Amino acid sequence: MTDYSRKVKNLFDNQLTGWSLARDNYKQLDNVRVRKIRFDGYETDIQFNPGRITSSAARVDAKSIEARPCFLCEKNRPPEQQGVQYNEDYLILINPFPIFRRHLTIVSEKHTPQRIAGNFTTMLNLAKSLPEYVIFYNGPQCGASAPDHLHFQAGNRGFLPVERDSDNILLCKRAEEVNGTELWLWSGYGRGMMTIKGHDSDHLASVFQRFYDRFSAVQPDRPEPMLNILAYHNGDIWTVHIIPRRVHRPACYFAEGDARILLSPASVDIGGVFITPREEDFLKMTAGDITAILKEVCLSEEEVLKLTSGLL
Ligand SMILES: [Zn+2]
Repeated sequence: MTDYSRKVKNLFDNQLTGWSLARDNYKQLDNVRVRKIRFDGYETDIQFNPGRITSSAARVDAKSIEARPCFLCEKNRPPEQQGVQYNEDYLILINPFPIFRRHLTIVSEKHTPQRIAGNFTTMLNLAKSLPEYVIFYNGPQCGASAPDHLHFQAGNRGFLPVERDSDNILLCKRAEEVNGTELWLWSGYGRGMMTIKGHDSDHLASVFQRFYDRFSAVQPDRPEPMLNILAYHNGDIWTVHIIPRRVHRPACYFAEGDARILLSPASVDIGGVFITPREEDFLKMTAGDITAILKEVCLSEEEVLKLTSGLL
């Protein structure tokens, strides 16, 4: 167990005893309902989680963001919420509206915009410091409900289907390897994704930077290219799943009546656990809906192949 693993374990013990909102919401996970949807060669989960409505339905346009107090800033956080200091710049908090049995929010001490540029290495370091967790990043237009305050999240490993699917050679294949850093590409997974693996964090960061620059050129008007990222550390190897996006919320999110599905896809959904805060959506969603949503919000596998050609 790393030093941070131990500190975070203690944080959970303390908060789940002393903070009733968090205790109740983690207890509620016992009642969360899950449906499995089968695809050709893999499965995804749909989780009915009413506690996530605030996040899924969050208004993240500039005007709404400016008008509300930032819930990640210290002065607005609940007084019961404690944290573990991470380096000088971050605080590790438990997420009081969990999806995972162990769900963290890792917030910058400064109120500064959500950007991955300059912070990718922090993400790798967090993954190494907390090997029991998947660290994930939702870009400011890709599911972050605080696009104005830099943060990561983390959830206990073994929960997201993408972890096991990446070990399935039929879905995820090694495309390139240079000096121990590997690029893996996905096929038949219904969403364009790339995965980089390696033991050298500087090399991984430079590969990520090259990809970032290429993708920025495709989306020049965005604050940053649209991305979800998931990273974990096992043995001495980092695995980083990178999902380039084209759309924040699918058309069904804005539809009315029966056509509406209130689902705002971010790292967890694309990692294979689709979060529906409304029961009606949980009950009615089909494999076809999931396929259509992923196709709409992600790049195609062919587009990712093009973007990553000769990347290492
Ligand atoms: Zn803030």
